[in-house]
Amino acid sequence: MDYKKILNSEISAETIKQWRESGKKALGIVCCHVPFEILHAAQILPVRLRATSCKDCGEGEACLGPQSCSFTQSILQYLIDGTYDLDGLITSNGCSAASEIMGHWRTVSQRENRQQFFYEIGVPRVNNQASRNYFRGDLEEVCKELERLSGNEITNEKLKNSIDTYNEARRLVKQVYDLRKAENPVLSGEETLRITLAAMEMPIEDYIEFLKAVLADAKNRKPIENFGARVMLAGSALDDPEFVKAVEACGCLVVADLNSFGIRFLRDELVYDNSDIIGSIAKYYISRSSCPRMMDGSDDIHDYILNAAKEYNADGIIIERLKHCEKWENEASILGEVFKSADIPYLELERQERMSAGGQLSIRVEAFREMIENR
Ligand code: SF4
Repeated sequence: MDYKKILNSEISAETIKQWRESGKKALGIVCCHVPFEILHAAQILPVRLRATSCKDCGEGEACLGPQSCSFTQSILQYLIDGTYDLDGLITSNGCSAASEIMGHWRTVSQRENRQQFFYEIGVPRVNNQASRNYFRGDLEEVCKELERLSGNEITNEKLKNSIDTYNEARRLVKQVYDLRKAENPVLSGEETLRITLAAMEMPIEDYIEFLKAVLADAKNRKPIENFGARVMLAGSALDDPEFVKAVEACGCLVVADLNSFGIRFLRDELVYDNSDIIGSIAKYYISRSSCPRMMDGSDDIHDYILNAAKEYNADGIIIERLKHCEKWENEASILGEVFKSADIPYLELERQERMSAGGQLSIRVEAFREMIENR
């Protein structure tokens, strides 16, 4: 497989079109709390919506308002301008901005008489037995709705097969990430993000073959040498490889991340209990320490970032947050104190989906690198 052409990170409308032309459904997913395995078991293509390379999100902003994040504005723009041509949306209440995408797309699609499927999963913000039971119940409803949409029955056997398939991808993604533990990694942070972004529209079986090709070629790649500091990136949904490229052009090699389009998407394997597959899926998706939306999980995020920074030997941490991202604005201020007491250099950067102010970013990241080099 010539995996390199897939690294252009453009949204593959062709992949979605071919899937739908084969008579199967494709649903857009907002946020990483929607269980991909359930859609896969119904032979529905899960398309994780992203805003990569969105140059103009005027219509999206007009709907969502100027105080919403450019990530959600761009995704709505791509739905309105047809970049995404899907059978509907299945979202989770990740944050209020993300939830609004469905409301506006429902209005626009009805106005255009487009038949669309809509379902919003209510993912609890606390993780305990009661919330897991509630979430399990909601996922059972999701299964019924997706069976109606696809005409395919979702059995435990199919769910186990889907989980096993996604777990194979998770193991391979971990191998890709572990390449960055090397003193001179053969993969940059920009390339790694391009590798994980490739999963967003691709059927998982094809993605597994893609990852195997990447790993097979790793031994032919030249170790990266020209950098002054190893950094970890954490923060808002980051689906723009150009941003990571700009950080790395300043001599800060990105060796780890806590990004919902990066490691947060395909990280730990989902372990299931044969007597309760849906319950196992609910437990997995609610227990992943991944997002500031959780009301009892923030310490987990802190621990994850500190442990990952140590595991990947990062010299410093960059918190990148989208303008108007309520979740990471709050979390960034708390994390600042955590890094100070852990004596870890950190830098907080505000960004927009469309890279602007590249000069200002370079000045700040170069100063950060120099500070680390002189410690
Ligand atoms: S970037 Fe922040 S505000 Fe935007 S969808 Fe994600 S969590 Fe919500």
